[in-house]
Amino acid sequence: MRPVFAYSGLFFALLGASALHGQSVPPREVAPGVWFLLGDASKGYSNTTVIEIGDYLIVVDANYPARAREIMAELKQLSPKPVRFVFDTHAHGDHSYGNSVWTAAGATTLAYDKVLEEMDRYEPVRWQAAATKREDVRSLHEDTVQRPQKTFNKSPFVLKDATREVDFYFLGWGHTPADGYVWLPKERVLCTGDGAVNGARNKLWDANIANWPKVLEKAMHFEPLFVLPGHGEAGGAEILSGQRQFLLDLYSAVQEQVKQGKTLAEISIQLPERDRNWIPKDLSWDVEATYSEIAGHKPAGALPHQWK
Ligand SMILES: [Zn+2]
Repeated sequence: MRPVFAYSGLFFALLGASALHGQSVPPREVAPGVWFLLGDASKGYSNTTVIEIGDYLIVVDANYPARAREIMAELKQLSPKPVRFVFDTHAHGDHSYGNSVWTAAGATTLAYDKVLEEMDRYEPVRWQAAATKREDVRSLHEDTVQRPQKTFNKSPFVLKDATREVDFYFLGWGHTPADGYVWLPKERVLCTGDGAVNGARNKLWDANIANWPKVLEKAMHFEPLFVLPGHGEAGGAEILSGQRQFLLDLYSAVQEQVKQGKTLAEISIQLPERDRNWIPKDLSWDVEATYSEIAGHKPAGALPHQWK
């Protein structure tokens, strides 16, 4: 397995180099009929994975409306098959606000059923906030995010044909209470949504920071060769272990200072060098979310909080 893994690392290192400076990156076929499309971070886009199965396509993450339209155009170059399912990995806007664009084009939106609860909890407030900032959301003239049309509550939900199996998992409360993962057992490809991202690109406000590393351990047990994250370049299992280590180090560093009796304003932490890929320039929001979880004795996302 190791040579394949090393090859995938090189492949994605090259891919990463070409993704610098916001250049549009062409879709990469990570396995026959499985494409990874890097989202332009400067436009707030998440990444997208397209999976061919039987006579149709599955798109992982609806993305924002403008990106949904771009992807539809790009798909014509990839496959003549229609998109049947669009999977929202979670309720955040950069993964789900394009839902109505996809369904208008004939696709069915799909999600783990607790995504609906998350949308009911935070919408339409977040949608309306996004509409003030984003022309693509505003121009839909809709009041809120269109809810996923098909949901599942038993994990995994499986789609299968003679050549391919696609498993949709819920592994526990990490980035949000309803994170979906997509696993291709034969090709050993894992789509993580924001359960794991590659780089300092995550938000912890809806998270369960203490539980999240345990969710990532479950994901690591799949032993994926390819990890396709919600943001940042694709890679291998090091994205899962790195995201997990960052969260463990963040939590223990904040917890140590809380034990010393420090208030949020007094907390100042230094994370180890091994976490550098995941450490944002301004760590204060991550510290605040972690502090609220420890001091509040509940997951950060279960406590009153604002989307920042
Ligand atoms: Zn998210």
